[in-house]
Amino acid sequence: MNVTRRGFLKVTGAAFATSFMYEFAGTSTALAVEAPEWRLTNVTETPSICCYCSVGCGSINSVIDGELVNLEGDPDHPINRGSLCSKGSAQFNIRNVYDPETGKLELNPFRVTTVKYRAAGSSEWEDKEWDWAITEIAKRVKKTRDDSFETTDENGVTVNRSEAIGFLGGAALDDEECYIIQKLARALGVTFIEHQARI
Ligand code: SF4
Repeated sequence: MNVTRRGFLKVTGAAFATSFMYEFAGTSTALAVEAPEWRLTNVTETPSICCYCSVGCGSINSVIDGELVNLEGDPDHPINRGSLCSKGSAQFNIRNVYDPETGKLELNPFRVTTVKYRAAGSSEWEDKEWDWAITEIAKRVKKTRDDSFETTDENGVTVNRSEAIGFLGGAALDDEECYIIQKLARALGVTFIEHQARI
């Protein structure tokens, strides 16, 4: 069948007008679709930032009774304006996953919620408190710096450095975090400062 562009517009326009009038005459049942319950009713929305990379896309996390029920891109965020890449979209599954057998949503059993510590020479990971970990890191950084600090090099040139410590940045760090970390590293006299993206 040959349908010209003009003919096609006439037919579809007439069909649309008929269904439009029929709907507003209040006699249509065919167009009365029962809406499913909106799952984001009565949620508390909290804006957040994606944990995966330094682009720093914004998300909106919807919570009901302490349970995360939805995570999506924040349309008001100036960086991503509502979009999230595939990794960012999968942030929901850091906390919740679907049980493959029951199909039900459950807490992700693989989520790491404590500090993991493996002592030098050990093959076992131990669970530790944050306070313990932060104090231990500070203690070890100070001791290593004190033991290795050089004020001059072999030619007598002032260097004020420690070559026994290295700082490695990760893609999850944003500009401001990198700035603070750089300040700390340089204040300590650390010269080996690198970023994961260059390795
Ligand atoms: S991982 Fe994707 S969603 Fe997350 S900040 Fe980077 S680009 Fe944005």
